[in-house]
Amino acid sequence: MADNSQRRIAFIGAGNMARSIISGLVSNGYPADRIIAANPSQPKLDALAADFAIQSTNDNLLACQQADVIVLGVKPQLMAQVCEPLSALDLSGKLVLSIAAGVTCDSLQRYLKQAISLVRTMPNTPSLLGLGMTGLYAEASVAEADRAFAGQLMAAVGEIIWLAQESDIDQVIACAGSSPAYFFLFMEAMQQAAVKMGVTTEDARAMIQQAAIGAAAMAKQNPQWSLAELRTQVTSKGGTTAKAIETFEQQDLRASVDDAMNAAVKRAQEMA
Ligand code: NAP
Repeated sequence: MADNSQRRIAFIGAGNMARSIISGLVSNGYPADRIIAANPSQPKLDALAADFAIQSTNDNLLACQQADVIVLGVKPQLMAQVCEPLSALDLSGKLVLSIAAGVTCDSLQRYLKQAISLVRTMPNTPSLLGLGMTGLYAEASVAEADRAFAGQLMAAVGEIIWLAQESDIDQVIACAGSSPAYFFLFMEAMQQAAVKMGVTTEDARAMIQQAAIGAAAMAKQNPQWSLAELRTQVTSKGGTTAKAIETFEQQDLRASVDDAMNAAVKRAQEMA
């Protein structure tokens, strides 16, 4: 097995998420000549080769044969079909990493018809900007060097969190996978309220998105304060913010959020 900076990585499926990971790896200094992407459509491969100087092929099997690490980056509904021919390979000594939502380790082992060193990951959409949050789960048999490599790979598109058990992925879905949409909904509601007050749609959006970025940055840069402390620090007693927060609390925003996140977990369990 090559050392961690020299492992040959094959991306099976060179779509949006694979492209983002490749971009992050190459800009972090990972050698481009150690990366190969396999995909049916040639234009995507040509663009990846042009942008990042990686290798490419239309042949999944060929890419996997040469690789130390295989990243399965196809849509979940294609996973069984894509794994079928790969099951003919001896995958011992290779690390397999899946980024597909909802495809369990059991299913992947079954599709590949052998025991494999397997890490399942759950990235979220901001990974496409390098601002992702990825939950990773490694089976107990995965070697420490493989875990470290998988972590390094997903850290190329944002932050990572290791999970103790596979079912924790459902909580990652509720907290990070689905949650960008919760924030969009909240921002959308704020924008609608602002427009009703007479603010233009563009100005409302500019103010709201910048406030969201600022609030997230304040939270991230001040881990010594709880989120409740951050909130109270910007809420003067009897002031405008206090009045708005009081309205949210009276209408039980917390209960809505609790219900919504539990609904996301339940749906993830149903879909697994
Ligand atoms: P995507 O852009 O559609 O990429 C999937 C790629 O797989 C496409 O380039 C497609 O090629 C390729 N493909 C199709 N059939 C193939 C085959 N037989 N062999 C090799 N490649 C094949 O999708 P994505 O957004 O990157 O998502 C990829 C995975 O990441 C999914 O499993 C998804 O669940 C997971 N994920 C994505 C996000 C996200 O925000 N995008 C978040 C969390 C998880 P063609 O286009 O040429 O058909």
